[in-house]
Amino acid sequence: MTTIAFIGLGNMGLPMAKNLIGANHSVRGFDLSSDARGALEGAGGAAFDSVADAVTGADVVVSMLPSGKIVEVVYADVFKAAAAGTLMIDSSTIDVATARKVSAEATAKGFSMVDAPVSGGVGGAAAGTLAFMVGGTADAFAAAEPILDPMGAKIVHCGDSGNGQAAKICNNMLLAISMIGVSEAFNLGRKLGLDDQTFYDVAANASGQCWSLTSYCPVPGPVPTSPANNDYQPGFATALMHKDLGLAMEAVASVDANSPLGKHAADIYAEMNDAGHGGVDFSGVLKRLAGDL
Ligand code: NAD
Repeated sequence: MTTIAFIGLGNMGLPMAKNLIGANHSVRGFDLSSDARGALEGAGGAAFDSVADAVTGADVVVSMLPSGKIVEVVYADVFKAAAAGTLMIDSSTIDVATARKVSAEATAKGFSMVDAPVSGGVGGAAAGTLAFMVGGTADAFAAAEPILDPMGAKIVHCGDSGNGQAAKICNNMLLAISMIGVSEAFNLGRKLGLDDQTFYDVAANASGQCWSLTSYCPVPGPVPTSPANNDYQPGFATALMHKDLGLAMEAVASVDANSPLGKHAADIYAEMNDAGHGGVDFSGVLKRLAGDL
């Protein structure tokens, strides 16, 4: 049994913390929300009134927070309260530069730290089947892996600090581009008189095949589990895709990469989000592009 401080008990953090409790770890949690703290206590964890109180006496700190700025603020408190040698795992989706900065501060203070953002959403968090993309030293990864195990189905070491965040935003930029591409193809096919299922049967077995088509199809019908069959309820909300594309565009600018399609995808999802559709699944871009949303 390991004593784990869990900071950030929201839609993702609470079910992740529950899976750590289910694996017989002792979980000490903090969230700004008293409801979230109460929910942790209801699940068998111990809730505290500050980051420092939750971290005191913990062997490991796990965090699941909304933004890089908040991660910086929270870890300033974590560093003051943590015992020497504490392992720190930040699973928030944040910018690569902040992940590297906070990790360097942790190392300088004698802690070890990994960035370990996830994909798999709230469903994966509840089921303990998240995919973790981990950045940090080989030793820190080896120490983090058994802690992540009850929360995840796939845990990949992506390289040094920040590389977990890099893998996450590169993947999601690719996902946004491919979802828009699949949506454009269905919309064009419809205008040309092509039946959705017929086009699906062709493209799913041809060179257009991709995850956005065959696992998360943006038209209702061909893939019964896709959010298109449930009026585009997330799934993966447009607001979260918009956030991740913002991080991707920051990264593009920081290293002067050439990503014209990523930039265009970021603009399309920003416009969809700003038009009030942040709560719609990101595959709803098909309707937005068709002028139906
Ligand atoms: P959320 O808003 O539901 O939860 C964030 C929690 O952090 C909230 O409960 C909030 O009260 C708490 N918080 C904020 N500031 C705090 C502070 N200073 N100290 C302590 N607690 C604080 O968000 P979420 O959906 O759980 O997402 C968390 C992270 O996971 C984000 O970085 C998000 O991008 C990422 N993520 C989310 C999903 C998803 O499907 N929701 C999927 C993959 C990754």
